[in-house]
Amino acid sequence: MDENCIFCKIISGEIPSELIYKDDVCVAFNDISPQAPTHILVIPREHFASLNEAKDGHKEILGHLMLKTAAIAEEKGIADQGYRVVINTNENGGQTVFHLHIHLLGGRQFIFPPG
Ligand code: 5GP
Ligand code: ZN
Repeated sequence: MDENCIFCKIISGEIPSELIYKDDVCVAFNDISPQAPTHILVIPREHFASLNEAKDGHKEILGHLMLKTAAIAEEKGIADQGYRVVINTNENGGQTVFHLHIHLLGGRQFIFPPG
């Protein structure tokens, strides 16, 4: 728990948020500023700032996040048509919240490369 971290506050309930999914390792909730019809954030309960801080000991957490992201996509009905999974990292990556999170975006066509 990082007391200055907005996502840690969502996990602790200090900032009320409707969770789409939760388990011992992660939680998922709608992005406050959706960039697609479906825009969900999947985050680990453990605070680490970005993928740059991920260590060997985070392998299970990272694998868990990926599999749950795919399961949520399936549950939300966007799996067959397809979706995009994004992890923005640091300044060039456009990261604004420094608690690792996966963006799950779906419900529209995306282009590549992204802007
Ligand atoms: P980043 O730019 O770091 O990859 O993504 C951070 C995301 O968190 C943004 O898409 C932003 O809209 C979202 N966000 C920021 N603050 C809040 C909040 O308080 N609640 C929710 N649900 N999403 C937030
Ligand atoms: Zn945090």
